[in-house]
Amino acid sequence: MTRVAIAGFLHETNTFVPGLTQWEDFARDGAWPGAVYGDAIFTRLASLNLGIAGFMEEATKRNVELVPLVWAMAQPSGVVARSVFDHIAETILKGLKANTVDAAYIELHGAMVSEDHADAEAELLRQIRAVVGPTVPILGTLDLHANVSEPLGLIPDLLTSYRTYPHTDWGLSGQRAALWLDRVLEWKGKGGRAYRQAPFLVPVTTGCTYTEPSGSLYRLIDKIEAETGAALSLNMGFPPADIPEVGPSVLAYAATQAQADAAADHLMQALLAAESGFAAHRPLPVEEAVAKAITLAENAHKPIVLADTQDNPGAGSRSNTTGLIKALLDQKVAQALVGIVHDEKAAAAAHAAGLGGVVASLGGGLDGPGQEPLEGPWIVAALSDGRFNGTAPMLRNKESKMGLTAVLKKDGVEVLVASIRQQPIHRETFSHIGRDPAKVKILGLKSSAHFRAGFQEIAETVIVCLAPGDNPEDPALLPYQNIRDGVRRRPQA
Ligand SMILES: [Zn+2]
Repeated sequence: MTRVAIAGFLHETNTFVPGLTQWEDFARDGAWPGAVYGDAIFTRLASLNLGIAGFMEEATKRNVELVPLVWAMAQPSGVVARSVFDHIAETILKGLKANTVDAAYIELHGAMVSEDHADAEAELLRQIRAVVGPTVPILGTLDLHANVSEPLGLIPDLLTSYRTYPHTDWGLSGQRAALWLDRVLEWKGKGGRAYRQAPFLVPVTTGCTYTEPSGSLYRLIDKIEAETGAALSLNMGFPPADIPEVGPSVLAYAATQAQADAAADHLMQALLAAESGFAAHRPLPVEEAVAKAITLAENAHKPIVLADTQDNPGAGSRSNTTGLIKALLDQKVAQALVGIVHDEKAAAAAHAAGLGGVVASLGGGLDGPGQEPLEGPWIVAALSDGRFNGTAPMLRNKESKMGLTAVLKKDGVEVLVASIRQQPIHRETFSHIGRDPAKVKILGLKSSAHFRAGFQEIAETVIVCLAPGDNPEDPALLPYQNIRDGVRRRPQA
């Protein structure tokens, strides 16, 4: 019987956000479960839309014996603390030393930066390789937003990345890794591995596979895989990371180097040809976006969605800026609903004041214009404990926890404030507290693209707007110091 060790360590690091990501950020339940060890991985994670869950499901069908080690993930945020990286690495290495296995599977994000390691996953894989040796296969899954370096791509025997953004195929990627297991075992560490890097960055919002050219590029992968027999991945990269290897890449793995090279070159050609398509995306400044939404809402049957992409917590932003809310108030919208503003103080004040009570101010936290708290009075219009079951396909069967939550109202604008930072993925984010997002005129969401899996079908249209936040939509605005030479900081720059 084949024995496979399984583990997960996921973080998308925005190196421009101050402060370290600590163990409590990995341990806490929120939109995802907190850290899980050993056999609890089977019970806690099995039903979720995660790489490790997909791998477990498919491997179990194939009679593989699984050796669960540890799984930990935190919301995107600043650089990962040394103690966190060392703890997870030690736990995985200890498990591998204590168990003889035929292969190791690890669920990674691919854009983690730790205090000691700018290329954190490559370092982890290097340490794993040193323990298991050259012939025990290492397989893994990566997020579509991985910033892949050559070592990260070439140390393992096979990596496969999500092909959707919103990431609805998270679990499928793990299944896919398990489907390759038998072939990778046959390669005995001698399979072909190809890595290619693109010469331009792709803004986070522009990589959404509901839009072009991203949708077509990801659909091409199946075709090239069928033609070449390689396992192929396209990683869009995660721009707010000040590291040399930031940006898009292609990975291919196959029985021979020639197969892997052919697959990687074909997909890279398509990516290079798509550069002008990425450059064509033009998000609107927030005032202009709100004005357009007001006009469109007059004749719309469904909400106009404003995507507040630059304050998206899913890209590490603090999710507390008030630029969009201010623009909605300034332009006197008749009815708008905005969320999720991460503001523990305002949520606690709302619960203390009770329904109909008053909260003095909300949000704010960055230094700069439009980033200060927004003064009230804000009327407490609804309260909840922030627990709900979400139905969006990106995360399934998971009780979401937002901590103390409230809806605060001023003039025509209602704002959902919560105590645990996360992005609005499920419509139940709002409906659990008595606000039907399908029934509002204008819906402001602090998200870049993940919201689309749950909200696209109730939206008349989506307008991506530019309000203050830690995730500049245009990567050329980021003060990089460590990026490699020769990279265009946005498409066709
Ligand atoms: Zn991602």
